[in-house]
Amino acid sequence: MVLADLGRKITSALRSLSNATIINEEVLNAMLKEVCAALLEADVNIKLVKQLRENVKSAIDLEEMASGLNKRRMIQHSVFKELVKLVDPGVKAWTPTKGKNNVIMFVGLQGSGKTTTCSKLAYYYQRKGWKTCLICADTFRAGAFDQLKQNATKARIPFYGSYTEMDPVVIAAEGVEKFKTESFEIIIVDTSGRHKQEDSLFEEMLQVSNAVQPDNIVYVMDASIGQACEAQAKAFKDKVEVASVIVTKLDGHAKGGGALSAVAATKSPIIFIGTGEHIDDLEPFKTQPFISKLLGMGDIEGLIDKVNELKLDDNEELIDKLKHGQFTLRDMYEQFQNIMKMGPFGQIMGMIPGFGTDFMSKGNEQESMARLKKLMTIMDSMNDQELDNKDGAKLFSKQPNRIARVARGSGVATRDVQELLTQYTKFAQMVKKMGGIKGLFKGGDMSKNVNPSQMAKLNQQMAKMMDPRVLHHMGGMAGLQSMMRQFQQGAAGNMKGMMGFNNM
Ligand code: GDP
Ligand code: MG
Repeated sequence: MVLADLGRKITSALRSLSNATIINEEVLNAMLKEVCAALLEADVNIKLVKQLRENVKSAIDLEEMASGLNKRRMIQHSVFKELVKLVDPGVKAWTPTKGKNNVIMFVGLQGSGKTTTCSKLAYYYQRKGWKTCLICADTFRAGAFDQLKQNATKARIPFYGSYTEMDPVVIAAEGVEKFKTESFEIIIVDTSGRHKQEDSLFEEMLQVSNAVQPDNIVYVMDASIGQACEAQAKAFKDKVEVASVIVTKLDGHAKGGGALSAVAATKSPIIFIGTGEHIDDLEPFKTQPFISKLLGMGDIEGLIDKVNELKLDDNEELIDKLKHGQFTLRDMYEQFQNIMKMGPFGQIMGMIPGFGTDFMSKGNEQESMARLKKLMTIMDSMNDQELDNKDGAKLFSKQPNRIARVARGSGVATRDVQELLTQYTKFAQMVKKMGGIKGLFKGGDMSKNVNPSQMAKLNQQMAKMMDPRVLHHMGGMAGLQSMMRQFQQGAAGNMKGMMGFNNM
């Protein structure tokens, strides 16, 4: 069972409360039965599931509770809290320090995803502006260095390794030494695994660890073994000082619920989860946002992180133009580039409340990206005068031969160019309206600067601008409004709104 299924089932169980006319013992039990069945199906340990049920029941006193609405909210809130507890190891995870050498060593069984995850993590930090590198200290598996080298080269991450040196301890020590002298901030050491927890693996692990003195040992765990994660995590923890865990392969058919709750049960802090084979498929793991996202309520923190990663603040010129309500075709082009840079579209969408985890199937995602690319190709055929014009659409409508030229140049129909210009006009109109909203672009944090009535105006504008198909996916105008409301609450650091299940 995939995690998205689990989320859907729990959401549906919780929704049954909203549909019930009265909330009594019977309704509560039926809902809990559904939630527990979904958790068991996702391979969560039966003891943990029972505990969750008891905790919710003891937190809820139906007699004492007043009105119906309140009851529903309190029950939903309580289930949410218990779900968070299930995946919360209750231990604060290690975090790197800026401007210092942070040595991170990866350990785990062969095939668990160490090499893949090393590259993902390096890529993650590099994008955030850390000076990052990779070291391959796996001499056990043939082709290990090539694999790391390939990943690192693709992502333009400096790396170290050897085809001739057979001692992983020597390579690790040399690599760390070299990168420390070069003032790298994130130094990631990949090690070899074995098929089982063999003594030779633990021996090698300890030697490498002694040689490089890591600041953080990351234990990589394959989620597909489900509840068995608990025993394996314990075994590794006993041997080396595991400071954090990354659970991989939570995409596909992994018994994800079992893996996450089992690791949490060993009090090992999960720092990231791997959700695919691509270098982008790594998500920071925080318990509350994770559960929110699982239940289709979005991940506001993650979204804000992603947006901040774009360093829009640096783009003062654009912000200044936006403030004055200006938006050219070139600005739109750059915005599309930003969207592409944010990584997989679906990942971003999944972070927006109301979209749910599997809002976009991979097929749809590719389609959206392809659409975006097509629009950019069309703009590639425009000249500077057109791109930088204060009202590009007007220029084209006044001189239609420009449309024909651009269509020819980009190999599309004139209708496609016209569609792009229509899309642009809608964007530009919205920017004009937004520019009029004082303080919207101040410091990049919308919620702090915009009052509710301005937000409502913005909602309407967004709805007008959006592709009707996307709007439909979001549950129409009501869905959009609820999303914006949550966005506001979430962005203000107030998670309560989300936990109150506003959109249920
Ligand atoms: P290592 O032996 O621990 O270094 O494992 P590798 O990094 O070589 O990964 C083993 C296999 O798992 C490879 O085929 C990876 O593409 C795949 N893999 C790693 N992480 C993930 C993940 O999060 N999702 C999926 N679907 N596959 C993964
Ligand atoms: Mg490997």
